[in-house]
Amino acid sequence: MVKAFSKGIEIFLIPCLGDNQNYAIVGRESSQNIGFTVDSPDPQVITKFFESKNWNLDVILNTHHHWDHVDGNPQLKNRWNCKIYGPEYEEKRIKKIDFSLNESSTYQLGKHKFEIIHLPGHTLGHIAYYSETLGVLFVGDTLFSAGCGRLFEGTPDQMWESLKKLRTLPDETLVFCAHEYTLNNIEFALSLEPNRQSLLNFQNVSQEKRSKSLPTVPTTIGVEKEINPFLRADDIELKKNLNMTENSDVEIFAHIRKSKDTF
Ligand code: ZN
Ligand code: FE
Repeated sequence: MVKAFSKGIEIFLIPCLGDNQNYAIVGRESSQNIGFTVDSPDPQVITKFFESKNWNLDVILNTHHHWDHVDGNPQLKNRWNCKIYGPEYEEKRIKKIDFSLNESSTYQLGKHKFEIIHLPGHTLGHIAYYSETLGVLFVGDTLFSAGCGRLFEGTPDQMWESLKKLRTLPDETLVFCAHEYTLNNIEFALSLEPNRQSLLNFQNVSQEKRSKSLPTVPTTIGVEKEINPFLRADDIELKKNLNMTENSDVEIFAHIRKSKDTF
C-alpha cells in the first residue's frame, strides 16, 4: 500500500472496486492510536488492511450517500464497532450513521481539526473534510484530478460555486480524491485545449505514474487550478479556446460538464 502522507498522522491509499481510491488514516488521540477511513467502498479490503497493520478501525468519515462510498458501513460497523460520521443532508440515506455533520461542525483528531465543507453538485449533501493544520482535503467525488464529479443531483450553478470554494484553499493543500480517473480526465481536458503546455506536461507525469501502477492522487489545489478545466470556467484563455468569450462562467462550466458526460 502506498503511504501518501506522514506528518503527525499517516495516510495510506487503499485502491478498492477497480477505480475507487480509499484512504486509511491513522493518528494518535490522547496517546492512543486511532484509525479511520474516508468512505467504505469495500469492507473486506479495508478490514484486511487494518488487520495487516494491527490497527483498529475506529471511525468512518462518509462524504456522500452513493453506494461505492457507504455500502461497507454495516459490515465494518459489525466487525469494528466503529463510529460513523456523514453529511447531515444525507443522513437518512446512509446506513448505520451515528453522527451527522454540517458546515458548522468540526471533527477533532488529536490536535488536528477537520472542518466540514458543504459541496452540493455531485449530490446535494456532499461534504469534504479539510484540515488546515495538516494541509489535507478529503474531497470525495466533487473534485478529481483534471476533472470533477458528475451532476447527479445538483445544478451547474451549485457545482461551480462548490468548486470555487475549493479554489480558495491554499495551493499546497493535498487533495485526496475518491477515484482514479486522472488519465481519462486529462484526455478530455486536452480535447478542449490541445496545446496547453502545463496539461501536456501533467499528462506525461501521470502516464509515467500509471505505467508503474502508482496512483496519481493526491493532487494539490495549486496543480488543479492550472490543469483542471472545471476549476477554470472563468479563465479567459479557456473561454477563448472554446470560442465562448461572450458566455458567463456558469455557462462555460455547464458546457464542459455536459461535454465530459458523453466523452
Ligand atoms: Zn459519487
Ligand atoms: Fe464514487
